[in-house]
Amino acid sequence: MTSRILSYLNRSAKENVQQAILKAKQAESYHALLSLTEERALEQATKVDAGEITGRLAGVPFVAKDNILTFGGKTTAASKMLEDFTSPLQATVIEKLEAEGAICIGKANLDAFAHGGSTENSAFGPTKNAKDPMRVAGGSSGGSAVAVALDIVPFALGTDTGGSIRQPASFNGVVGFKPTYGMVSRYGVVAMGSSTDVIGPITNSIADSELVLEVIQGADPKDMTTLPSYFKPISSAKPGKIGLIKEHMSDNIDPSVLAQTRIAVEQLEKAGYSVEEVSLPMIEHALAMYYIIVPAEVSSNLARYDGVRYGHRSDNAQDLAALYGMTRSEGFEDENKRRIMIGAYVLSSGFFDAYYLQAQKARTLLIDQFRTVFEKYDALIGPVSPTPAFRLNENTKDPIKMYLTDTLTVPANLVGCPAISIPFGSTPEGLPIGVQLMTWREQDAKLLALARELEGKA
Ligand code: GLN
Repeated sequence: MTSRILSYLNRSAKENVQQAILKAKQAESYHALLSLTEERALEQATKVDAGEITGRLAGVPFVAKDNILTFGGKTTAASKMLEDFTSPLQATVIEKLEAEGAICIGKANLDAFAHGGSTENSAFGPTKNAKDPMRVAGGSSGGSAVAVALDIVPFALGTDTGGSIRQPASFNGVVGFKPTYGMVSRYGVVAMGSSTDVIGPITNSIADSELVLEVIQGADPKDMTTLPSYFKPISSAKPGKIGLIKEHMSDNIDPSVLAQTRIAVEQLEKAGYSVEEVSLPMIEHALAMYYIIVPAEVSSNLARYDGVRYGHRSDNAQDLAALYGMTRSEGFEDENKRRIMIGAYVLSSGFFDAYYLQAQKARTLLIDQFRTVFEKYDALIGPVSPTPAFRLNENTKDPIKMYLTDTLTVPANLVGCPAISIPFGSTPEGLPIGVQLMTWREQDAKLLALARELEGKA
């Protein structure tokens, strides 16, 4: 697959920006973007064109998920809580991209606070799927995936706490990469689940993901969980052994998704890899662990929205307790509230041992199983999502049904290993399907090289 990013280099940055903004306006009905940062983007473009900013991404326009703090407009996290919030600082990822000449032209829609898998939880209305506007974009980075799929910009930033880069990428036929936990700084990103949150690129090609990752990776003194830079793209992964995750190939998965995954396996075998089925019994419990651990972290991370420090503040409260309660009641979406309640419950003194502690112990067993499997296998393969993009409103009334769509993506987050969704064919109706590959932590370069064996080969 050829790089889209490279086609933007050595052109007028101003024209690149104007074109991207025009495309964004023409595609308004998809609601991929919550805002445009036109004025600041044109200012940056002038600097690039004048040679004041040079770099590996000089003049390349992009969009950032709107839970990443940027200058040039608001950062809302698609929530009423931050509807009018203007950030006094920029996220490290944005600073790094700008230092290389990339230009943020707008902020992408998401599920409020990244809680969701369809972008229907946005306080400002859903994003529509790039291939079928009657269907969901996926989520929570739905706006980012659709912006790339519609070719508004050649890359977008997303965040992935439990699948939010990979699942929308798979629903819209683009590449979504979740790096190793700690590879990319999260400073200046609205926290969801601190033990699994990562930032990564959504692109049209693997080469473009590599380009963006090289720029955004690395240790950040402002984020103590970051790892030193280690990522260096490699041209090919030596053929090795790949495990097909047995538990992820069950009858609960859509037949066309299973069929495409099997074709991907055959493709790898043709390329000289040996693929065999491998069982990771703990993976069956990953979703249960995730929906205990992440809400616990959510309930803690969202405690800061109290109407006092910043963000929405209720006008209707008569005393402090009411101010907290009413601000949070008015500012959060139902799904945010559901997670705060689950999180507070599993952390409460009577239930901590039964839920939170149990889930953390189970997580350790899951990590151990992955570690053991990766001693024998170079990578794991399976589907990204149990189904292709579902219809708008199909799952909104049933949170459990919505949560079940995360089954295949959450394990990589709980383990902290890198994972990618590669577009790999489509259903008979033409809905895109993604195949997922994972490797052990810090083997991001190998994972991307391996993914190239499947790129454009469906
Ligand atoms: N869909 C998952 C959830 O709702 C993942 C969200 C995410 O990765 N931000 O938690």
